[in-house]
Amino acid sequence: NQITTDMATLTKEVERFAQDKKLEIEGLKIRENYRKEFIGNISHELKTPLFTVQGYILTLLDGAMKDKSVRKKYLVNANKGVERLIYIVKDLDMITKLEVGDLNIYKEEHNIIELVQNVFDLLEMKAAKKKIELAFDKPYPDSIMVMADRERIQQVLSNLIVNSIKYGREGGTTEVSIEDLIKNKVIVRISDNGEGIAKENIPRIFERFFRVDKSGSRREGGSGLGLAIVKHIIEAHAEKIYVESQLGIGSEFSFTLEKAK
Ligand code: ADP
Repeated sequence: NQITTDMATLTKEVERFAQDKKLEIEGLKIRENYRKEFIGNISHELKTPLFTVQGYILTLLDGAMKDKSVRKKYLVNANKGVERLIYIVKDLDMITKLEVGDLNIYKEEHNIIELVQNVFDLLEMKAAKKKIELAFDKPYPDSIMVMADRERIQQVLSNLIVNSIKYGREGGTTEVSIEDLIKNKVIVRISDNGEGIAKENIPRIFERFFRVDKSGSRREGGSGLGLAIVKHIIEAHAEKIYVESQLGIGSEFSFTLEKAK
């Protein structure tokens, strides 16, 4: 009897061990696929600007170098391609650091009104090119102090506002508003009256490299990583981000921040 009991226990343990190993292998397979997909996406993103730059260089080597005005134009365009590559690589570097937890978030007291104003100043020209008005619905007090990593939250604001311009309509408006919530939170909203996002795509927009319109988005620049970076930064602050959008009407992204005591 004892032997039978021992055998049964042993069999159970072997089964459990096998099950654990199976799960471990499945986990590894998922991670491996994830990695492969990531590398595939990176090469895809880098290919277009690399071929563009190469195209200009080859044309220059092919004789265009002799013509002074053409030479300048091609070099300027090649440089634009390089700038785009740098932009993508910077985003890749940032997402990698955020994903491996290698990017420390230093929360300090900052005036959120000032952070929004700084980003508006930087993006004014970009918005003006598309005749988009940047409106700031400032709350009554001149300062609302929040706990935030200044650089990172400015990046969040910048990514969201750049998107509202990219996917906004010519002559439209991007509005930022700050709501002082009763508890210890504020909510920052960035809304536009642009193209909006279809319901079925909303759950996917924070994924790395996800784009609604693959070709259209690429023409507008960007790396497909902007919103993934935004989400990581907000989560690293232990805060929340929300999106509401209607196709053809517009989008609103909002995130919370902790008020400074
Ligand atoms: P991208 O570099 O393509 O802009 P993001 O990660 O910033 O990458 O955004 C992912 C996708 O989400 C975009 O390609 C676009 O389809 C959609 N999107 C983001 N912001 C907006 C917005 N304000 N209005 C409409 N669509 C948006």
